[in-house]
Formats: sequence, structure tokens, C-alpha cells
Amino acid sequence: MIGLVACNHTLSVQANDPITEVNLPVSNEMELLVQVDAEQVVAELEPVEPIVINSATLVAVGDILIHSSVWQDAKTDEGYDFKPMFELVKPYIEQADIAIANQETMIGGTELGLTGYPRFNSPYEVGDALKDSGFDIVSLANNHTLDRGEKAINNAIAHWNEIGMAYTGAYVSTEDKQRIRTIEKNGITFSFLSYTYGTNGLPIPEGKDYLVNLIDIEQMKEDVELAKQLADVVVASVHFGNEYEELPNESQKIIAQELAKLGVDIVIGHHPHVLQPVEWIEQESGRKTFVVYSLGNFIAAQDGLERELGGIVQIEVEKVTEGEKETITLKNPSFIPTLAYKKNYRNYKIIPLEDCGEEYLKQAEQVYESVKAHMNQWVVDLNFLVPKDQLLTKE
Ligand SMILES: [Zn+2]
Repeated sequence: MIGLVACNHTLSVQANDPITEVNLPVSNEMELLVQVDAEQVVAELEPVEPIVINSATLVAVGDILIHSSVWQDAKTDEGYDFKPMFELVKPYIEQADIAIANQETMIGGTELGLTGYPRFNSPYEVGDALKDSGFDIVSLANNHTLDRGEKAINNAIAHWNEIGMAYTGAYVSTEDKQRIRTIEKNGITFSFLSYTYGTNGLPIPEGKDYLVNLIDIEQMKEDVELAKQLADVVVASVHFGNEYEELPNESQKIIAQELAKLGVDIVIGHHPHVLQPVEWIEQESGRKTFVVYSLGNFIAAQDGLERELGGIVQIEVEKVTEGEKETITLKNPSFIPTLAYKKNYRNYKIIPLEDCGEEYLKQAEQVYESVKAHMNQWVVDLNFLVPKDQLLTKE
């Protein structure tokens, strides 16, 4: 009550303020100012283009590398079930608007005979588990794409099509290759490209270049130009680098720079089987490209802690539309380190490192800290782990 009285009192004083009733002499200059103001008011009344802000998150994981002990562990009476292996990371994949995985081994199915290292062929059910976990697209260009030949690629792609999973980097025909894959979420369109440094010495069958995309700057340039016409954001998966090296080599850095220059927004690296850091590459225009040089193994049977560590990288894309003008900004990069857990080559399970107690990993906390320090050495504001309660309430 007291506050209200005080307020009324103030108002009445202002209304009777003698200054408002005094006619001050108006100079020519002041008249001009008044006129300009009036024009501005008219201009502001004309329809203004509204500012629309859209945003979508993308997550990416590294190698889905199905060694024989991994598929043997997934064996059931009816076939194979890899879903339990993804159970603990599924919430992190599902919460993203778009999720992409590096499917290192072709899922040619049991009819071709399953094989592990060095020339892999995996069950269709690997694809079913990725689909169930919330992945939207798989990158297929890597050094194992040709392991079991054209038949395995065709079988795999038939299954990806059957379950409605988009794929990029390996194709069934030239026509298939020319169709750049795009996914639209929340009003933002993403395009997905995928390339590999090579195919372990296996020659690409003559006249069938579409079977696997190789790193070729000229080809990439054409693809990126087309991808930019089709999408707001260009994502390139690149299979490159030296195995087991914890930092990118010169060639990885050059390729990432080239892709950034061409206008690629996000570069997702894999092949080293160990984690390599993330980096921003900034152009003179101010446009930034987000690069993760290697995401390590997501699921594999390789031994040695550094080969058991992988992760889920996440980036937020914001699109601001003002009339004809559209601005894309990449925001809040984050990383969720994971462990490809196994015991005696059984009980495979991908576990967020944050959730790894001593039961699953000796000195889990120290390992987690060293992974953080490794991944953010060039991007100090890299976030780690999206809190679970936030994940659970997001939908
Ligand atoms: Zn590889």
C-alpha cells in the first residue's frame, strides 16, 4: 500500500511539472530533427522481416568396428543382438537431433559368412542396434569398405535402406553417389559427405568408383559446392591419419584446412583408433569450422586403454534468418568420453567414462581427467558430459 501511494504521488508531481508547460524557442535545427524523427517513425511502421532463430544438435561417434569376439558376444538363439552394448550411451545419442556413426565394417550379413580382422563382414543386426540407439546416418567410406567386395557393400546398403538409415561414402551406383544425403531437423538442413584415404590396398573395381569415396580435393570441392546449395550446414566425415597416434599428422591438418576453406562446417575424423583433439578453424571471413580429428573406437575388441577410449562429440547449430539473410553459428561443442568395455573378450558394453566406477576401469577418475585434458587442449571451452537429468527431460 505504501509503495502504491508513493508511486501516485510521483506521477502527479510529474504531470504538474512546470517545465512541460513552458514553450521553449525552437531553432531551425531542432525543427529539422523533429522532421527526421517523424520520417523514422513512418519507416519503422512499414512491415519488418521477423528474425527467426532455429537450432539443432548433431552428435557423432567413432568406429563401429565389429571384431569376431564382438559378434560372438552378441550371438543369441535367433541371430545377433548388439542393442545391449549400446544401452548406456543410447540416452546421449537419442537426445540429439541428428546422430552419425562411422560404420567401419560393412554389414554384409551372415549369408556371406561373418569375418573379423583383417577383412571384416558383420551381421545386419549391427545396423538394427544403431537404428535402435537413435542414429540417423552412417559414414561408410573407410579402409575396410572393400574388405568383402561389392557384394558386402550391396548387401549392407540394402539393409540400411530396409531399416531407413541414411548412409554416405559408399554407394550402389553412380546415381546413388550423386545424390548428396541431407537431413532436415528443426528447420535446419544438414548435408553429409564421407571420404577415406584408401582401402588397404584393395583396388576399386573398374568403372565402379561409386563403391567408395576417396579423399580427392577436386572431387570434394565439387561435392561441397553442391552440398552447400542443398543444405545450411555441410558435415564431412573423413577417414584419415596414422593409427594409434594421439595427435593429427600434417596431412590431416591440411585436409581439414582445405575442407574449411571450401565451406565445410563440421569435420568428423576417424581411423587412428585413438582419440585426437578438437579444433576450431577460422576463416578470414570469421566463419568457423569445427573439427574433431579422431573419435577413436566406439565399439571394438582392440586392447590397450587408449584404444578402448572413444566418445560422443556434440555441437549445436544455430540458424538465424532475417529476411533473405541466413547466418549459421556453431555453438557449445561438447564431448562425452566413453569406454569400450569388455572382459575376456565378452560382455561388450559402451560406458560413458563419467559412469565408469573402479569396477569397469582402474583409476577411472584419473583416466577421465586425462581424456578431458587431451581433448580440449586446443579448445578450452569444450564442455564435458551433458547432465543426465537434462537428457531425460529434454523431449
Ligand atoms: Zn580405419
